[in-house]
Amino acid sequence: MRKYVIMGVQGSGKGTQSELLENDLDLVHISVGDIFRWHVQHHTKLGAQVRRTMNAGELVGDDLVEKVVRDRLDQHDWNFGFVIDGFPRNGRQAEFFMETYDLDGVIHLELPDDEVRRRVLSRRLCPGCGMDYNLIADRPKVEGRCDICGTELIVREDDTPEALAARLRDYHEKTRPVLELFRRKEVVHDVDARPAPEKVQQEIRRVLDLPEYQPASVMS
Ligand SMILES: [Zn+2]
Repeated sequence: MRKYVIMGVQGSGKGTQSELLENDLDLVHISVGDIFRWHVQHHTKLGAQVRRTMNAGELVGDDLVEKVVRDRLDQHDWNFGFVIDGFPRNGRQAEFFMETYDLDGVIHLELPDDEVRRRVLSRRLCPGCGMDYNLIADRPKVEGRCDICGTELIVREDDTPEALAARLRDYHEKTRPVLELFRRKEVVHDVDARPAPEKVQQEIRRVLDLPEYQPASVMS
């Protein structure tokens, strides 16, 4: 069984890398953000609590995150292991988590802040159909228009330079103690998140001693 934590700033490709790991290694990707989004969409009690917190402009509390992760792991549907993202959020949770689940490693995706800004600030959204675009990687065919429905693309409300700077500050502040603790136990693997996703995945597998990643184009 393989148990990993994946850490990285917004835009570092945590979701993509976790999916690539989960695909052929049968790991379960546990994303705290996805769990919260699910609860909000399905109007659960927890979802209402999360929505209230976010509407007040606050971050979901560490204790609530911890409870959600525990409940999720208690389902024991991860026979081959898991990759968890969005947890732990503080040193105490990291310590507890490491002891309880006997982690195999922490993947730390490293992306310089200026590259995060470049990636995040190039995101565009179609308010008509919800399609995401990126002016670097997924440009619309006609500038500023959705390929699917033709609606004019917009910038997400929280993708302003100021909001991003605040999120980056918050991320570094919260992450530092967790990373330090993991580093003391020597389980952290730093991976450069700047190359293309397939390259990053290959590097992750190399440092974790996992079977090599075969891009789909090579397999078919
Ligand atoms: Zn559209």
